[in-house]
Amino acid sequence: MEPCTYVVENYYDDIGPAKVVHVYEPKIGLRGIICIDNIARGPAIGGIRMAPDVTTTEVFRLARGMTYKNAAAGLRHGGGKSGIIADPKQPEERREELIRAFARAIRDLKDYIPGPDMGTNESSMGYVYDEIGRCLGLPRSLGGIPLDEIGATGYGCCCSAEVAVKYIDLELKGATVAIQGFGNVGKAAAKFLAEKGAILVAASDIDGAVYNPDGMDANELIDVNISTGSVINYKNAKQIPREKCLETECDILIPAARPDCINMKNVEQIKCKLIVAGANIPISAEAEKVLHDKNILQVPDFIANAGGVICGAVEYHGGHEKDVFGVIKTAVSTNTREVLDRVYKKKMSPRDAANQLARERVLEAMNYRKIHI
Ligand code: NAD
Repeated sequence: MEPCTYVVENYYDDIGPAKVVHVYEPKIGLRGIICIDNIARGPAIGGIRMAPDVTTTEVFRLARGMTYKNAAAGLRHGGGKSGIIADPKQPEERREELIRAFARAIRDLKDYIPGPDMGTNESSMGYVYDEIGRCLGLPRSLGGIPLDEIGATGYGCCCSAEVAVKYIDLELKGATVAIQGFGNVGKAAAKFLAEKGAILVAASDIDGAVYNPDGMDANELIDVNISTGSVINYKNAKQIPREKCLETECDILIPAARPDCINMKNVEQIKCKLIVAGANIPISAEAEKVLHDKNILQVPDFIANAGGVICGAVEYHGGHEKDVFGVIKTAVSTNTREVLDRVYKKKMSPRDAANQLARERVLEAMNYRKIHI
């Protein structure tokens, strides 16, 4: 095993992190990291990431993102995150062994409520629930609300876009859209935007991209993606290089794949009017500034992509699937409006406006607590 390098010391500030815990079980080969960033609004919600290269710094950054996302979404929850240092592509029995051991290791960290993240899924949460009875993102058979199946995050992106277009004198009906990353988030965003009359002109996944300036049928593209494994097998469009999807001339761009996909190397090629961030940190900090200077409006990630965690919180508090879309629409639309009002009235960048809004809510909650750990 490679040694871990821990550099979280640089990150302590007026919000957190409250706890950074490392767990190690040599017999099973489990190594894990848990960061509970802030619990002023309630127990911390955040996913368990399984990846061979997950680091303490990454877990902390993601935990802070959850503190902001949960506060912005108005949830009675703080932010946390955890990582199991392991390859997620292992036989299911081995994954189960690691996840169950990890769950037992966090049994007494009662301020942390885990959920699924990259490398874990609803079945993983089934194991966690069996071990410690505390998690969200459960399978439907255990009373869960399957957030990816219902498209909770993509729906929230659509609600966010519907509010944001008004700030740039557009309507969703007839607006052209490009979606980078056609997974759970991207597909749901495509479906809900198409229902509002938007025209999908480009889409990409790991295998490539397709483009049709006259528009593609979103539902057909979803079917092709599911049945063949990639958007590139969609017939009524031409194939373009994967990275060109981001550079498509369109009204709305939804990056819904990996972090830092829009960066200083390609930011000058971005030609849309509005970016609604489906993925977490899909734009590097420097590129966000350039886009702002280029007058391209952005809705930051934790404002636009909060649909999934909102769905998880509804499940955790015993809510029903039928209520989820209403709760997401109210929270995401209101927050998008609040952030963009700050952008235009206070001449702030969208990132600064979103951070300011979330920090205000966290700091206000902290005033009610004597002790923060
Ligand atoms: P997913 O694995 O279902 O889909 C990811 C998609 O991106 C796949 O289609 C993949 O082929 C594609 N992809 C990967 N690299 C690419 C590249 N370089 N160019 C183009 N396409 C690429 O994942 P998801 O659940 O849809 O999540 C997408 C992103 O959104 C992740 O960053 C995730 O952390 C974030 N997110 C997801 C949710 C959720 O509810 N699922 C909530 C909030 C944030």
